Amino acid sequence: MSQSFDTRKLNANETVNSAPAFRQALLRHLQYTVGKSPQKASIFDWRMALSHTVRDYAVDPWFDATRRTWDEDRKRVYYLSMEFLIGRLLEDQAINLGLRDVIVRVLSEFGLSFADIAEGEPDAALGNGGLGRLAACYLDSMSTVGCPAYGYGLRYEHGLFRQHFEHGRQIETPENWLATDNPWDFNRPEAAYNVGFGGGLAEQDGTSIWTPGSKVIASAHDTPVVGYAGQWANTLRLWAAMPSADLFDLNRFNAGDFAAASEPEALARSLSRVLYPNDTTEGGKELRLSQEYFLTSASVQDILRRYLAGHENLLKLPEFVAIQMNDTHPAIAGPELIRLLVDEHKMDFDTSVSTVTDVLGYTNHTLLPEALERWSVGLMRKVLPRHLQIIETLDTQFIELQGAKENPVRLINNDQVSMGDLAFTTSHKINGVSALHTELVSQDLFPVHNELHPGRIVNITNGITPRRWLKLANPALASLITDTIGAGWETDLERLRELEPYANDSAFREAFGRSKAAAKEHFIQWLAKEHGIQLPAEALFDAQVKRLHEYKRQLLNILWTIAHYQRIKRDPQAGWVPRVKILGGKAAPSYHMAKLIIQLINDVAEVVNNDPETQHLLRVVYPPNYGVSMAEKLIPAADLSEQISTAGMEASGTGNMKFALNGALTIGTLDGANVEIREQVGAENFFLFGLSTEQVAQRRAQEGHARTALEASQTLRDVLQAIAEGTFSPDDHHRYDGLLDAMWNSDWFLVASDFEDYDRAQTEVAECYADAERWQRMAILNVARMGYFSSDRSIRQYMNQIWDVESAL
Ligand SMILES: *Cc1c(COP(=O)(O)O)cnc(C)c1O
Repeated sequence: MSQSFDTRKLNANETVNSAPAFRQALLRHLQYTVGKSPQKASIFDWRMALSHTVRDYAVDPWFDATRRTWDEDRKRVYYLSMEFLIGRLLEDQAINLGLRDVIVRVLSEFGLSFADIAEGEPDAALGNGGLGRLAACYLDSMSTVGCPAYGYGLRYEHGLFRQHFEHGRQIETPENWLATDNPWDFNRPEAAYNVGFGGGLAEQDGTSIWTPGSKVIASAHDTPVVGYAGQWANTLRLWAAMPSADLFDLNRFNAGDFAAASEPEALARSLSRVLYPNDTTEGGKELRLSQEYFLTSASVQDILRRYLAGHENLLKLPEFVAIQMNDTHPAIAGPELIRLLVDEHKMDFDTSVSTVTDVLGYTNHTLLPEALERWSVGLMRKVLPRHLQIIETLDTQFIELQGAKENPVRLINNDQVSMGDLAFTTSHKINGVSALHTELVSQDLFPVHNELHPGRIVNITNGITPRRWLKLANPALASLITDTIGAGWETDLERLRELEPYANDSAFREAFGRSKAAAKEHFIQWLAKEHGIQLPAEALFDAQVKRLHEYKRQLLNILWTIAHYQRIKRDPQAGWVPRVKILGGKAAPSYHMAKLIIQLINDVAEVVNNDPETQHLLRVVYPPNYGVSMAEKLIPAADLSEQISTAGMEASGTGNMKFALNGALTIGTLDGANVEIREQVGAENFFLFGLSTEQVAQRRAQEGHARTALEASQTLRDVLQAIAEGTFSPDDHHRYDGLLDAMWNSDWFLVASDFEDYDRAQTEVAECYADAERWQRMAILNVARMGYFSSDRSIRQYMNQIWDVESAL
């Protein structure tokens, strides 16, 4: 590259990159890449030119890092994930490269705003929620801490569906992020692999020969991922499915049967067509299994090819390769690697198993039985016959390992292959994602495995990248922090501790209050522009944004909101703290109850927001289509973070971390990472309520617990009564019959059992918020004590405890 910038000399605050050089590079791209003059360029053209310019700056550190990894023969980490919820890249990469200030300055010369241009970029929504966002935060951290790594995923044509509401009901439409050019990725047609499906097995000299019935080509697209301050860069490699040339039936086409001629091609492409809009249960089983194998096989072939380009001895694979499976989705990696080592490289079976186990690690993200993947033996035999054979052998060995046990744990049970058990047996480390979750993984999910392999299970509590979730999302707070403690916290988040003493400094508290006000104003303006909703800035912003799921208990939130509304109605002059309830999140399209809860929230909003008596005291808003970009605006604006899942059901949560880092106080249960957040920020700075994990188990065992809890709460009964009378659904009094019936008769998620204590905690929240000084003190202490939750810390733990890899920096 001819430019004279040196990204290596960047420090956190200042950039050595000069405006004239950047302007020149930008105008070059505008003219020669986009084909426009500054006079004629649209905002889209500017975004393309700007993205290409920024990408150029990423290429130098990227080449450097790649070359050094080869030259120094370093171990590499491969992070396999069906989801990467990366969101927008332009501003993120600009910040990591230290280019933001220069860009703002250069664009202003043309009368353009960086914010407006960045806003045009579609979100890369290649994930459902937390699991996919975690993968994206980990990519950022691996590059920042200098861990040589590849992220491997699928290049879905359509990411997570777009959500809008009609009469309060969720409507899904296809997302189309690739409809316009994606300026970030490099197409790598030379990095392509055949992935086989189906077919049959033959036996030769005691080994199996698999002849797949069909093949799909996996073609690589690479995006450079630069770490903070441009010191290191890794690759996100996404596979696109391409039909092999012989799939197009030219004879049929020439005979006029156009549709039939193209059908096999279309089928092949469908492997990377859509992301499953489902983070719990699987649908379209065969396609989903095929997608998982497609990702895994292409990645594993690529990994072996790279290893063999520099090494010969496959026994040494674990010294140079670490593969992390993000949940069970890529758990076929074990059998696939064994297959390649045994069938293609002639390693003996047992040696291949121990080699593969030393390479693989498995992150467990859930205890929900419906989310622990199981594939029927019939389907496996049809799609992956050789892999099934390998799994059967592993199953036999696993039974032997358990000795003469009466009911051994099996990899294949009732004609179902259990991918969790498979992932465990083929991994040297299994990690839970928070202290509590890891405890439950050991005791409830894998007790037998744990006994056979003590020490395999480790805890690595999730984290979030402070570059995106503070520096990018909350510029006002980020600059206050830098002005107060200096730069450097971006890569050493524990330094936020230095803010602690300022909690008692009234000038700082005021500045902190102004930064929150600025974030609220920014969100208010976005909401007004985008959705025509006006919000009062002085109200308490009370937010719950995340996937819609019964265990996350958005229902508890909205039922309490109704109770609050009824109380205001009874006594409007009682000095209520004005509140805005902000909810957001998508429901899986087939998840009826979750969609009904969305409708209830929107129905309640309709009534509450149009009541002249209460309007100024209570509002309910549900901006549609929650995603990374909305989160970036909303989270900094929140005062209160709702983390109210039934204890024992949220593995970690990362939304909880983003809010606390941005100075929201948490109202929450002892679940997932909430437990550790509360430990870090101090119990006195956290609104705790609800049953513990053990109490949840006990309560569920009590016959009629729902009814008992309801009989003890007049408040909640009044709420359910109002819903039953059609207060919020005057056009259909029976709309919520099913929901009410579940509340009275089953209430698996213990909404009724936790209601009164939640109500108590919410009252405390309001009292506390009324004392602005006290609230601010608590909020500052939350920010100051969130350093532990940087994903840099998580990644360093993975490097030490699972991957055994050293930083190249
Ligand atoms: C962080 C994040 C999540 C995860 O939120 P939880 O509250 O932990 O479930 C989901 N979606 C998006 C867009 C996020 O940024």
